[in-house]
Amino acid sequence: MTEFTCTRCGKCCMSLGRHMHIEKSLSPFSHTLRVLVTGERIPVQVNPAFRDLFLWGTPPAYETGWCPFLRKEGDGTFVCTIYSSRPVICRTFRCCTMRILDEAGSEVGKVKGKSSLSTADPVLRQIWEREVLPSSTLPEAQFARHCRTVLASHGYTCEQFDS
Ligand code: SF4
Ligand code: SF4
Repeated sequence: MTEFTCTRCGKCCMSLGRHMHIEKSLSPFSHTLRVLVTGERIPVQVNPAFRDLFLWGTPPAYETGWCPFLRKEGDGTFVCTIYSSRPVICRTFRCCTMRILDEAGSEVGKVKGKSSLSTADPVLRQIWEREVLPSSTLPEAQFARHCRTVLASHGYTCEQFDS
C-alpha cells in the first residue's frame, strides 16, 4: 500500500465544482468560498504562481460543473489555483483506492471502495468480473493481494492506496 497520488486529471474538480460557491470577492485573487455540500465557509487566495493562469487561462466550464478555480495547464494536466488554501473536502478527497495500469504504464482503471471498478478496457472488465470479484468477500489485505496477483498474471500492475 502506498500514499494516494493525484495525477491531476481534474475529473473530481469538474464535478465537485457544483458545490463551490464564491460568496464574496475582495479582489480577483481573494475570495470567500462556501462549500455547499459541507457548509464550510473559508477565505481562499489564488496562489501567486497561478495568477496568470487563473486570469487568462481557458475559463472553466461552469455550466458542466467545473470548479471556478480549476484551470488547465499547457501540458494538459489540471491545477487547483487556490491549492494552498483549498477547502477541507478537497484536501481529504481520494478518488480511488486502487489505480490499474497497463503494460505501458498508462492508467486503464480505477477502483473505488473495496471492489467497484471503473474502466473503459473491456478485457480488464472481464478479468475483474470473472477472477477478482468472486473473491471480494476476502478480508481486505487478502483481497488486495488477490487483486495484485490476478492482475499481474494478465500484464496489469496496480497501485493500492492507504485508505
Ligand atoms: S483526485 Fe483523482 S480524479 Fe481528482 S484530479 Fe486527482 S487523480 Fe483526478
Ligand atoms: S477548490 Fe481546487 S481542489 Fe477543490 S474542487 Fe476547486 S479546483 Fe478542485
